[in-house]
Amino acid sequence: MGSYREKTSKARLSVLGEFTDREFEKEYAYYQIKYSIKFVRPAVLLLGVLYFLFIIADFLLISDGRVLNVLLLNRVLFLIISILFNFWLKSSSRYGNYYLSVTAYEAVGAAFLLSVLYRYETPVFLIQSLHVLLLLLVIYILPNRWLYMVMVMSAVGFSFYLLSFGTDIVGSVREFTASIVHTVLVMVLLTVSSYRLNRYRRIQYANSKELERLSSRDALTGIYNRYRFEEELHRAIVNANRYGTGLSLIMFDIDNFKAINDNYGHLVGDKVLVEFTEIVKTEIRECDFFCRWGGEEFALILSDTDKEAAARLANRLRARVCSSYINPVGQVTCSFGIDSLRTGDDSKSLFQRVDRLMYLAKESGKDQVISTLK
Ligand code: GH3
Ligand code: MG
Ligand code: MG
Repeated sequence: MGSYREKTSKARLSVLGEFTDREFEKEYAYYQIKYSIKFVRPAVLLLGVLYFLFIIADFLLISDGRVLNVLLLNRVLFLIISILFNFWLKSSSRYGNYYLSVTAYEAVGAAFLLSVLYRYETPVFLIQSLHVLLLLLVIYILPNRWLYMVMVMSAVGFSFYLLSFGTDIVGSVREFTASIVHTVLVMVLLTVSSYRLNRYRRIQYANSKELERLSSRDALTGIYNRYRFEEELHRAIVNANRYGTGLSLIMFDIDNFKAINDNYGHLVGDKVLVEFTEIVKTEIRECDFFCRWGGEEFALILSDTDKEAAARLANRLRARVCSSYINPVGQVTCSFGIDSLRTGDDSKSLFQRVDRLMYLAKESGKDQVISTLK
């Protein structure tokens, strides 16, 4: 539960267009891959099939049986690799290796294509250049880390011109230069476009996460708000009923808070609320759900906790709060109501019981804990 500033700084991007916060980048990558895989899996199959279907053109263009066999083997192998890769991607546990595996798949595909480009009896350099441009587009379309994409594209471009350089397939210096210039320009455009797209997607993701956080948090104290509380209480009740575990609810309200506002002003009142929540946070477990229900009234949902344990926590909280000094108002006290889930309870009935108990604590003189045990 960090401050607002801590959360937004997560959205900072590095020169590579990735979140500088590694954990946040991982979270984004997981989300992105989960979404991309639905597209990548059929795309990989389609690529394998399309590459294989070029065998039709090969049959029409090539008369040498040995060359045809090499091409057939090349295309069948890539089809098999694509089918296997498609199945490999199906397993969700592969997320950690997704980027590297897509990069490897692209590199293998490029190697297959480049290795047969000059197998034809009369290869035409400009037509082969078009194949390379198509390959670059495929690499651009398959979602990957921007850096890996740039690396594969550069390797493909470099290998192709290295393979072609000095061979008699290249018609003229003019064609060779024109091909290089066009390929480099296409690569630059794809690189810039992919960089911008990657940044834009991350900014959108960070914004949606921030909105999600704002809609579930209280603006003053940063703890959960009433909206999230209602969702969480419902969820916790469903879970407790399903797994047969205990569930307790504590509601508490700061005593005589109006007097603090009246005597010191609303800004001091706000500061007391913030410091008060910090004190409570030090006493609760990570898994406890702590929220500001409204005004100076708070709630704690304690999963897997019976009433006795909840009462012990409330008494500890009561003692901790009233022994703390909150500048400049001094001692602050609280009244607590506690109960645990009963058979047939829903969130409304449990809440109403606890709320009544809290008001009973107020009526009985404040600064005390009341549960149905008493
Ligand atoms: P009791 O002991 O019975 O709970 O009395 P109380 O004075 O604490 O309760 P009451 O309901 O009479 O007053 C609560 C006050 O809390 C009134 C309201 O102005 C103030 N309050 C609610 N939200 C905020 C806030 O965000 N900031 C500040 N400063 N005050 C708030
Ligand atoms: Mg009060
Ligand atoms: Mg109140």
